[in-house]
Amino acid sequence: MSGPADSAVHCHRLTKRYATVAALDGFDLEIRQGEVLSLLGPSGSGKTTALRSIAGFERPDAGSITIAGTTVTADGVFVAPERRAVGMVFQDYALFPHMTVEGNVGYGLRGTNQAPKRVAELLDLVGLTPARDRMPHELSGGEQQRVALARALAPHPKLVLLDEPFSNLDTTLRDRMRRDVRRILKEAEATAILVTHDQEDALSIADVVAVMKEGRVLQTAPPHVIYRRPATPWIASFVGEAVMLPGMAERGLVTTPLGAFPHTEDRRGEVQVMVRPEWIHPVRASDGVAVVTDQEYYGHDQLLLLEFPDGRRVESRTATGPVINIGDRVDIGVDEVLIFPA
Ligand code: ADP
Ligand code: MG
Repeated sequence: MSGPADSAVHCHRLTKRYATVAALDGFDLEIRQGEVLSLLGPSGSGKTTALRSIAGFERPDAGSITIAGTTVTADGVFVAPERRAVGMVFQDYALFPHMTVEGNVGYGLRGTNQAPKRVAELLDLVGLTPARDRMPHELSGGEQQRVALARALAPHPKLVLLDEPFSNLDTTLRDRMRRDVRRILKEAEATAILVTHDQEDALSIADVVAVMKEGRVLQTAPPHVIYRRPATPWIASFVGEAVMLPGMAERGLVTTPLGAFPHTEDRRGEVQVMVRPEWIHPVRASDGVAVVTDQEYYGHDQLLLLEFPDGRRVESRTATGPVINIGDRVDIGVDEVLIFPA
């Protein structure tokens, strides 16, 4: 089973059981050449098992995996990890502690005459030329990660796999490393799968996000589509803050406890309605429909808790324009609503 011609990786209906758990349960995934894909899912959803299966450290019970047109895993087929041309960046980086930065980066190139040139290129790409003679324990977490990435990229792999690459970094470093890792992968024209349980990691770094739950991929789409057009209420809540409301849909209009809003979907009757807090815009009005019961001010924006006549409390995230205070009555405008089956 192979995918389209420009398919870098194609996983087809992978299953993998451990005793009673199905770590992978009909796992399908397709990545194109040069794409950075985030595999996003909660802890235990099977992300690491999927990554290890693609790398060849794990053999699924069923299904097939094709890398750059070559079937590496299928019924009766199993290509060893070292013959898959896959680079791996492990969660703990797994640098060789007794080797210098240069030694680590060159590890996969031993015995090739291009090694010194390629190592120099990679050190330059990840900004570690001045640190080439240091040992891993003399590096910061972010530097260690860049060494691990350079080591994975050095042999020109067909695919780079990164498992939770930011989980060992503090928040400030994390933001920077997201940008660095994306830039490095793009400059290297690498095809990459980056596993994370963090929706900000996934949305900010990837060309394409595959959202995973209970061993299978639920939706694969560019980040803005995953956020603005999630396929299910579960995805909506997993990738961001979602206000879920009961609604009654008629043609072009859906009535909710917050008011009636236009919609464009071909669905009537009882529905679930989803709104993001930043799609809700409160405007002060003495006879407004809601009351502001709480406020968190952040400067660039603020969170307002709005209480509606039925007692329902809904969060609105809004730019800090006209002053709104606790106790004010407000009317609301809503940019858009999404509707799902009830
Ligand atoms: P994730 O990386 O998304 O957190 P994993 O792929 O590590 O998920 O695990 C998926 C499921 O498979 C979990 O329920 C986990 O406990 C189970 N699992 C993973 N590896 C093993 C193993 N070697 N033995 C038994 N159960 C495992
Ligand atoms: Mg994992």
